[in-house]
Amino acid sequence: MKVLANDGISKSGEKKLTDAGFEVIIKKVSQEQLKDFINKNHINVLLVRSATKVRKDLIDNCPSLKMIGRGGVGMDNIDVEYAREKGLKVFNTPAASSSSVAELVFAHLFGGVRQLYHSNRNMPLEGESRFKELKKSYAGGTELRGKTLGIIGFGRIGREVAKIALGIGMKVIASDDHVGEAEIALEFYNHQSIKIPIKTEPVSELIKHADYISLHVPAQEKPIIGASQIEKMKDGVGIINTARGGVLDENALLEAIEAEKVSFAALDVFENEPSPAIRLLMNESISLSPHIGAATSEAQERIGVELADRIIEYAGK
Ligand code: NAD
Repeated sequence: MKVLANDGISKSGEKKLTDAGFEVIIKKVSQEQLKDFINKNHINVLLVRSATKVRKDLIDNCPSLKMIGRGGVGMDNIDVEYAREKGLKVFNTPAASSSSVAELVFAHLFGGVRQLYHSNRNMPLEGESRFKELKKSYAGGTELRGKTLGIIGFGRIGREVAKIALGIGMKVIASDDHVGEAEIALEFYNHQSIKIPIKTEPVSELIKHADYISLHVPAQEKPIIGASQIEKMKDGVGIINTARGGVLDENALLEAIEAEKVSFAALDVFENEPSPAIRLLMNESISLSPHIGAATSEAQERIGVELADRIIEYAGK
């Protein structure tokens, strides 16, 4: 069987497939040329990440295709139901990057409470000439230990976030419209582990009690956090969105930062990707990253291996 990894695959994923007898082509074929390439090379398995689109037209016109694998979580770039109706196996790797996203949340959160996002902008400009003034202006940091983290969306990533939070001594509260209670298993390097059950509560309660709020829900029709929710939050709250643009109302966030209701925010995802609003990018109270939550080498390795395992399983090898 032939596999085209159009948006790449990790070395270990590739090895697993070749060891199992698959031919793996790692090549970025442009969207326009993809149909011809698949037909000419009799590709049976198409692997993509978020860049390559797999729409009805491609599915209809590539009879050799038997499987479509998406390395990562969302499958918005694939006509999943249509492909399944046509008998294709369509799969993704939902769990492979959860801990990477959770670590990014804490990269932003630790940076947030010490204003690193801000001092990183100013130290190159003024660190030499105004060191003492900068030292004074960034001196009002706080610790995360003992504070309350509100996690909205208590699925795979939300629970990984909870593990780190509990590990550093934070109180964790959570909301989820399906999960009532989840047992968080903290595993330590020496194989000791403890389990901590956490009951979820409505978003309307969580927002009143959290010092920091981190969003981990899928894409929504309308924002979960808008002006009316922010109004009910604690003064000086920090908000982190690594879920999807649109889950958090960006205008409401900017207004709340302006009014000093929100002390800092962190955004890895944006309403208008890949061209985020410039007023977000220029805002000095926002810690920014360009949608890199899942982009660690460990996650990429796990994604590749998980894709290979599924292909081998479905091919009955
Ligand atoms: P998941 O499906 O495991 O968990 C999502 C949880 O949200 C579910 O438990 C669901 O019941 C809950 N939920 C859905 N709608 C809700 C609502 N309105 N109110 C409360 N809870 C609600 O998903 P996951 O793997 O944890 O991923 C979470 C999010 O992270 C997704 O949006 C995903 O796209 C995003 N993500 C971002 C990156 C990144 O690079 N930043 C990487 C991977 C995933």
